[in-house]
Amino acid sequence: MAQTNSMGGMVSLIGAGPGDPELITVRGLRVLREADVVLYDALVDERLLAECRTGAELIDVGKRAAGAEPPPPNPSHHNALAQERINALLVAKAREGRRVVRLKGGDPLIFGRAGEELEALAAAGISCEIVPGVTAATAAAAQAQLPLTRRAAGGSLAGSSRGVLLITGHPAAGTAAAGTTASAAVSWESVAAIAPSVTVCVYMGLKNLPQIARRLLDAGLAPQTCVTIVSNASLPSAQVFETTLAGAAAAAGSDGADNATDGLPSPALVLISSNSPQHYVSPPPRK
Ligand code: SAH
Repeated sequence: MAQTNSMGGMVSLIGAGPGDPELITVRGLRVLREADVVLYDALVDERLLAECRTGAELIDVGKRAAGAEPPPPNPSHHNALAQERINALLVAKAREGRRVVRLKGGDPLIFGRAGEELEALAAAGISCEIVPGVTAATAAAAQAQLPLTRRAAGGSLAGSSRGVLLITGHPAAGTAAAGTTASAAVSWESVAAIAPSVTVCVYMGLKNLPQIARRLLDAGLAPQTCVTIVSNASLPSAQVFETTLAGAAAAAGSDGADNATDGLPSPALVLISSNSPQHYVSPPPRK
């Protein structure tokens, strides 16, 4: 447990989980209930905020329409000023001697821009603790009943997954989107090389999925590779959509009008698994 500063203020970065308010940890919920100030993201469920004590100051730092794709972690595409404002707020509220919670969707350390907040807090000499959360990839895998790792019978490589890759699909590298920088670009060729033996979990990848799938195909990943898209994992509105790499790539190069994944709601997680047996995947829930 982190120490509070001389004024008693400190910051807890808490993972709220993927959506279902029951998926916050026991510790996360306890710290949230004790908080004086809570800075929360757009994807955080109202029912979690209802757990805050009366008089707690609740600050929405999400700033985007409900259901919209979350801001990407790529600084060239993200409102850096908004992040600086959040950093400054965290520091200011803690300096008032208050118990500050920064409540983030999923796990704070996975595509959550926690690094910048930790840096700002360290620079200001403010104590900080991190309470991990259930990340979207594990929630999506649970929703689809798709093991992220799998040891095949007899130890053969076929049918096994030896690891998990968590990667951002924003922006699709190589699409030369305005502001795309070399450092922000993902080498989908490297991903294709490792994909046959791991499960690839693509965050923020729904919009660019056709381009990503095309890049993976061009790099030699098998067209029949399973692509499972999970929208709103852990929530009653969850949807699981199953296709192949070839199916996901079908709209690449066009304007996306025939994109098989069009109409799937955000947030969505894309799981690319060469060896997942189809029969593990639940049929999409009916609405
Ligand atoms: N820190 C978060 C990720 C933030 S990036 C975590 O650990 O989960 C936001 C991306 O996460 C979304 O674009 C989407 O790809 C994914 N995501 C978040 N919640 C999700 C959910 N309930 N179902 C499917 N994907 C989700």
